[in-house]
This record gives sequence, C-alpha cells and structure tokens, in this order.
Amino acid sequence: MKMRKFGNMALIVALTAAISFGCAVQPDPVHTHTFTAWETERAASCTEDGKSVRHCTDCGFDETKTVPATGHKWGETVKTASPTCTEKGESVRRCTVCKFEEKTPIPALGHQWKTETVVRKATCTEAGEKRTDECIRCGAGGETPPFPQRDIPGARRR
Ligand SMILES: [Zn+2]
Ligand SMILES: [Zn+2]
Ligand SMILES: [Zn+2]
Repeated sequence: MKMRKFGNMALIVALTAAISFGCAVQPDPVHTHTFTAWETERAASCTEDGKSVRHCTDCGFDETKTVPATGHKWGETVKTASPTCTEKGESVRRCTVCKFEEKTPIPALGHQWKTETVVRKATCTEAGEKRTDECIRCGAGGETPPFPQRDIPGARRR
C-alpha cells in the first residue's frame, strides 16, 4: 500500500516536469506575419466593391480586404425638360466617373387661372359655381369645376 502511493507521487512529479520542459522548448509560439503593402486586386467602382490583397513575406499567407464601392460622383443637375401646366418635366444628373444617368421627374405645374368668377354663391346646403378664364401660363381655355347635375339650374326640367 505504502509503496504504491509513493509510486503515484513519483509519476505525477515526472509528468509535471515533462510538461514544463515541453513548454519551454516549443519554438516560435506565435508567428507574426510580415505583410507587404496592400495591392489592389480589383478596383472599387461606383456601385461594386473592390478587393485588395497583401501577403506575408515569411509564410506566404494571403490576406484580403473588401474596398467599399465609392458611390456615384454626381455632376450638376441639368433640367432637360421643363414642366408645363399639364406635363411633367425632367432633370438629369450624371456621374462624372461612370457616366451613369439618374433622371428625376419634375411635377406638372397645374394651370394658373387669370380670373376666377363666382357664378353662383354657395349656400348652406348647395355648392356654388365658379368659372375660370384662361390660364396665364399656357392660355388654356377656362373650365368649370365639375359639379353635381342636380345643382345646375334648369338643367332637369326642360
Ligand atoms: Zn506569415
Ligand atoms: Zn458612377
Ligand atoms: Zn395652363
């Protein structure tokens, strides 16, 4: 009994020594890469990411990184079509790098009437009537805003 216990102790001591020794002789525990400068493998464009790569001069390890897309570089916005009373206009801006064009609609202006004449005043219960003359911008003829048939005087009995 006594002998066996001593044997175990000796074994443990021996193992501990072996482990310590093993650690001490381990070569180059952490390799630190020595990198070249970043080289562009694929240049980033306005809309596509690029890729750069560098190498470790010691072990040949390749490291890559993504170069984010640059986004368009817009030139000045040019109005290519002016809006009218009824038609939409359009403006265009172009990327100075890739020539991509982006078009933006300009809303129609709507008529601007020279005069608005109240033909019939609105009452508590009935809508009035307004007549418009020509548009100061495009000269379009006047129009009468739509209004319910029953409200037009004399329209029904004839
Ligand atoms: Zn390396
Ligand atoms: Zn672009
Ligand atoms: Zn008009």
